[in-house]
Amino acid sequence: AAFGFRKVAVEEKQGMVDDVFHSVAKRYDLMNDLMSGGMHRVWKSAFVSMLAPPKNSETWSLVDVAGGTGDIAFRVAERSRGKAAITVADINASMLEVGRERAEKRGFGAIQFREANAEELPFADGSFDAYTIAFGIRNVPRIDKALSEAFRVLKRGGRFLCLEFSQVDVPMLDRVYEAYSFRAIPEIGRRVTGDAESYRYLVESIRTFPNQENFAGMIREAGFSRVTYRNMTGGVAAVHSGWKL
Ligand code: SAM
Repeated sequence: AAFGFRKVAVEEKQGMVDDVFHSVAKRYDLMNDLMSGGMHRVWKSAFVSMLAPPKNSETWSLVDVAGGTGDIAFRVAERSRGKAAITVADINASMLEVGRERAEKRGFGAIQFREANAEELPFADGSFDAYTIAFGIRNVPRIDKALSEAFRVLKRGGRFLCLEFSQVDVPMLDRVYEAYSFRAIPEIGRRVTGDAESYRYLVESIRTFPNQENFAGMIREAGFSRVTYRNMTGGVAAVHSGWKL
């Protein structure tokens, strides 16, 4: 119960997050399927449809931050017929290693995997046409820093797209969801990895993440224009979109 429900200081947070993903990297995909009942696949596909990567463009580039084992990158590679220049950036070497292996197996050897902190990206200003982050930003201790880095590395006219757990806005579903996340998720985490505390912490990070409107405000604050969002599954997840104009 080292970090049960107490408030976690910003300086401590990254270390905890890193421990969770080091320990789960090899079973990360199984965990996602178990915990979301397969829903994460539906959300990710819808997310990539919203991004609508151009087919056969030789010049379009994407950085998928907190890209982990490559779920978003592979979907984009498929849709762009393997032509897009895709970089997966993640702070966790274990997650990246699993991603690299999978990329090789699936014939996506052109995808770059790069160890990087979302708060301090190792890319020049104006490097990418699109920046995606899926179920990643709530793990980053300083969200405002990650958002200004997103803005910085995008080209003018570039697109920011973020998929994240959000606030359920459907009566009844919110209660079901609350009960599910507080009980079932740590229990699944315990059974698969022997570690319930880490998952309690992740659930807590979902609960404390800003709601749809407030997060949209933060994205505007970072400089993005035409910021919009779309709920998925009654707000269990939401996609936020913005443009660097
Ligand atoms: N995007 C992938 C997906 O949707 O399957 C992985 C999401 S996983 C829930 C969260 C990822 O965020 C982990 O791979 C973790 O290592 C990464 N992460 C956490 N903090 C980060 C940071 N400061 N910078 C970059 N990545 C980070």
